[in-house]
Amino acid sequence: MAYVISDECISCGACQSECPADAISEGKDKYAIDPGKCTDCGTCAGTCPVSAPGPQ
Ligand code: SF4
Ligand code: SF4
Repeated sequence: MAYVISDECISCGACQSECPADAISEGKDKYAIDPGKCTDCGTCAGTCPVSAPGPQ
């Protein structure tokens, strides 16, 4: 299981540098989480101003 970023994402980029697994990258319409790298730590959810990342 991995965290996923919902369509609420405003592409602010705040979560990317906070991810300890380097699992977050900028996508076309929003940021995205690589499910193969995500360790479900939840740091991105705590960083995001619009609560876009969440457990799948
Ligand atoms: Fe990175 Fe943790 Fe968010 Fe997964 S839950 S994308 S490991 S910050
Ligand atoms: Fe998107 Fe939230 Fe990450 Fe900003 S912190 S890029 S709004 S998921």
